[in-house]
Amino acid sequence: MTDPTAPPPRIVVLGGGTAGWMAAALMARRWADRGVSIRVLESPDIGIIGVGEGSTPQLKAFFDSLDIAESEWMPRCNATYKAGIGFVNWSTRPGFEHYFHPFLHEIDERTTPAFFYNSVIRRRGANVDGHPDRYFLATQLAARKLAPLPAYSFPFRSNYGYHFDSALIGRFLREHCTARGVEYLEGTVARVEQAENGDIAALHTSDGRRIDADFFVDSTGFRSLLLQGTLGVPFRSFGENLYNDSAVVAPTPADTDGIRPQTTSTALSAGWAWRIPLQNRVGNGYVYSSRYIDKDAAEAELRAHIGLSDSEPPLRHLSMKVGRVEQHWARNCLGVGLSQGFIEPLEATALHLVQETVENFIEAYTADNFGDAHRDAYNAGINARFEGIRDYIVCHYKVNSRSDSEYWRDNARNDVLSDSLRRILSCWVAGQDLVPEIAYQKIERYYAPASWHCLLAGYGTYPPPERLIPPSVKANRVDLARIDDFLARCALNFRPHDEVLGELVR
Ligand SMILES: Cc1cc2nc3c(=O)[nH]c(=O)nc-3n(C[C@H](O)[C@H](O)[C@H](O)COP(=O)(O)OP(=O)(O)OC[C@H]3O[C@@H](n4cnc5c(N)ncnc54)[C@H](O)[C@@H]3O)c2cc1C
Repeated sequence: MTDPTAPPPRIVVLGGGTAGWMAAALMARRWADRGVSIRVLESPDIGIIGVGEGSTPQLKAFFDSLDIAESEWMPRCNATYKAGIGFVNWSTRPGFEHYFHPFLHEIDERTTPAFFYNSVIRRRGANVDGHPDRYFLATQLAARKLAPLPAYSFPFRSNYGYHFDSALIGRFLREHCTARGVEYLEGTVARVEQAENGDIAALHTSDGRRIDADFFVDSTGFRSLLLQGTLGVPFRSFGENLYNDSAVVAPTPADTDGIRPQTTSTALSAGWAWRIPLQNRVGNGYVYSSRYIDKDAAEAELRAHIGLSDSEPPLRHLSMKVGRVEQHWARNCLGVGLSQGFIEPLEATALHLVQETVENFIEAYTADNFGDAHRDAYNAGINARFEGIRDYIVCHYKVNSRSDSEYWRDNARNDVLSDSLRRILSCWVAGQDLVPEIAYQKIERYYAPASWHCLLAGYGTYPPPERLIPPSVKANRVDLARIDDFLARCALNFRPHDEVLGELVR
């Protein structure tokens, strides 16, 4: 325990991307009455990465915790609602060429058991419907272009994420933070001064200022200037089982025939393309592995995919460093955002990790009165979080059934799997119940059993159709027509996405 009479720390957040501002907002809120001073320093010359437009449902909890209403931030960030992610062409198995990964609503508890049951007996050879799309409310909402917010008369908890403009969300949070006492500084850090014990003492800007603090947050993006650069914290690459290391991005005009509340992820020859509908445009990008396709060919493939002619201006290309640092909190520094690691954007988990990194840090740091007694346990927890998400994303690639390129064949052959993922895959193909396996591994807080079922079933990871036989009358328990009717009736409690977005701006 540190000295309880010590003055509160002075914190400098280095980096004004989404991660830096989310960290500043959460810290300012939590320590509003503790006298903690927070300054955010960013370089106007370097700028932000400017991609990252999809979230998990956790982002709603972030804004809720700051008492920021959707009507306040969504119109400012051209944001839309997200009911889940549609995966297209990842599987070639007939009937499974696409599936929807829904964000689960409370009402899904009624239909999930039927899906789990059918997926088990199909794995054991019964020819029943084991595709996830028949069983979840969010899938129906996305297909009907309905916003995932129910009418007041529908007394079940909903669950959804968002799409947003990543530059605008940073700007919004900056205004929010500076109105609450966070100081904003501009400057490019040219040198980092360390104390004798190795802690970071101060940042020196290129225009000659010395900015000191007790604690530093490194939100410098892939540069990781403080954590990896100054403190030398090792980086553990995930390249052995996540091959994508590059992206090319292109906006296209907004949808005019109703905005579908979903991200779409379409498999291409050496990666996948995202489609994220915002209010004013659609964000598109191709995440690919430079080992399998070069930059020009990737750009040409994305253009063809989204119908963008060669005469349009050149597209923006990015490199991605996929993996994580060994310690997210080292000495008097916390890495937040891309500086601490990145697990490619397939499930849009980066800001979710930012939030958890900061919230758990606040708990650990406060619990020891701004000391580091809980640092090791904290780091172990965040590392486990990264590994848990990584396994789920690796599973997408492992169970793909495309054979049209070396990239997809290598992914399916990939044998560098964690023990945890191996056990999940064995359990699934052996036709066993996945729920107790996930509980035994204590990984449901990373991805719930329903998410694992959707992924594995959605790709059609079942015995080949010719080996399936009709279920016995006793085994054929699921009444799909009733589920269709139930979900269709539930969907009546939701309104068109465009209509709900339109009301937010009034
Ligand atoms: C292709 C791609 C797609 C993505 N899609 C998603 C998605 O759908 N969902 C999601 O949640 N995430 C996504 N991400 C991740 C997301 O972009 C980031 O997590 C998010 O934008 C936060 O970035 P950041 O703040 O860590 O870094 P940046 O935005 O890069 O910010 C870095 C900051 O550090 C400052 N800085 C750097 N060096 C210095 C210096 N020397 N002195 C002063 N300041 C400095 C910069 O000026 C800047 O302000 C995606 C990432 C990529 C690459």
